[in-house]
Amino acid sequence: MENEPQKKKGLALHWKIIIGMVLGIVWAYLSIANGWNDFTDDWIAPFGTIFIRALKFIAIPLVMFSIIVGISSLKDINKLGRVGLKTLSVYLVTTVLAVSIGLIFVNLVRPGDAISEDQKIHNRIEYELWVKSEAEIDFKDDIRLSEDPKYAAITSEIAGMEVVVNDKVAAVQSKADENQEAGPLAALVDMVPENIILSLGNPKLMLQVIVFAIFFGVCLLFIPEEKNGPVIKLFDGINEVFLKMVDIVMKGAPFFVFALMAAKLSSMANSTDELAILLASLGTYSAVVIAGLLLLIAFYPLLVSLFVKRIKYRDFWKKITPAQLTAFSTSSSAATLPVTMECVEDGVGVKKEISSFVLPIGATVNMDGTSLYQAVAVIFLAQLHMIDLSLTEQLIIVMTATLASIGSAAVPSAGLVMLMMVLTSVGLNPAWIAIIIPVDRILDMCRTVVNVTGDASVTTIIAASENELKEQV
Ligand code: ASP
Repeated sequence: MENEPQKKKGLALHWKIIIGMVLGIVWAYLSIANGWNDFTDDWIAPFGTIFIRALKFIAIPLVMFSIIVGISSLKDINKLGRVGLKTLSVYLVTTVLAVSIGLIFVNLVRPGDAISEDQKIHNRIEYELWVKSEAEIDFKDDIRLSEDPKYAAITSEIAGMEVVVNDKVAAVQSKADENQEAGPLAALVDMVPENIILSLGNPKLMLQVIVFAIFFGVCLLFIPEEKNGPVIKLFDGINEVFLKMVDIVMKGAPFFVFALMAAKLSSMANSTDELAILLASLGTYSAVVIAGLLLLIAFYPLLVSLFVKRIKYRDFWKKITPAQLTAFSTSSSAATLPVTMECVEDGVGVKKEISSFVLPIGATVNMDGTSLYQAVAVIFLAQLHMIDLSLTEQLIIVMTATLASIGSAAVPSAGLVMLMMVLTSVGLNPAWIAIIIPVDRILDMCRTVVNVTGDASVTTIIAASENELKEQV
């Protein structure tokens, strides 16, 4: 890993990235306080965009070539089946665990209770109106709220609010609609690429690239060695080129991360007062999500050190820090994938045969941070509207949040879009996502760190169980 030679010269890469991040936060504050946001937008933000673009254009071909090379180097189709099954099972278990932790936290802390009783009554009425309107009943005749002057004021306010909420949500809703294809087998159909070139051009279609690559790799195993040998060699070489690109891009990471943090945070508010209000409102909710995520982050290395005796808790942390910091600043597991691969292979010592197969699948389907966040968000939004969800409904959330996190693309805000599905599954209003949108970017950064840490940990455990850890790192 590039860390090693850098250590000799001075500070390790992850420390440089942390410094870049802190400077970015300080810059964002100064930018908001002094009205420099235009300058930040014009002259700093583009470097953050360049970083994300560079990682993205590396990620997709890297996923394809590394899976093909990984599968063909497994040599044995039975081993492929075994590793695949193990991978999916462990990913599923960690996701269900994460949702459960989220549910326990949010039920214990009840962040939704932070608002006043009046506000909650108001919210509840708004919800009832929505339910009625969904059922296409003329609620004005049905609910006699307007007879009470207190509620009359509330209903007229709601009419105005609905317009604002609708505006905010329209953009996300249209995205969610795109995701919803009719039919129970839609998800299966969506996994199969229509045209691999088109799939390669869209990071949201990563699952299609994975399906293609697995199919290609398996077919390579079925043809004679004199035919598949040159193909494997060529793809292996191309794979190395992409990994080299990661190395080079990561040299600039401290500066790029500074630019990303400065631009993202400063675009969230126009004055320091607005920033304070933004952070204070939704504070308890954010704290619950972050506490759950922290628990998971601390738990993964523990799991690794329990299963793999020779890897110490702190060492694992150290080795994957660059991937965690990249995840935090890009909010995208897909964009972080090249860095995660480098950390897991060169830092932790997982052999390519395993990491090149298990990691890309993890980046696409294993999102423990996202599933935890979705569970907390749904219950919090229900609490805000004075709705107590039954145990059965909470079990439905375990199921839908697990599926929603699997279905979330590894790009920023994907979890937010899929949250609409989880809300709908228990009869809640998907438009409520508007309430948590203001703090979503920060929580997205945090949950992406957990997603990436989960992938790296499971990959290490699977590699150890297959005896595929390098002797020396
Ligand atoms: N940004 C997350 C990721 O890429 C997905 C999400 O929760 O929005 O892992």
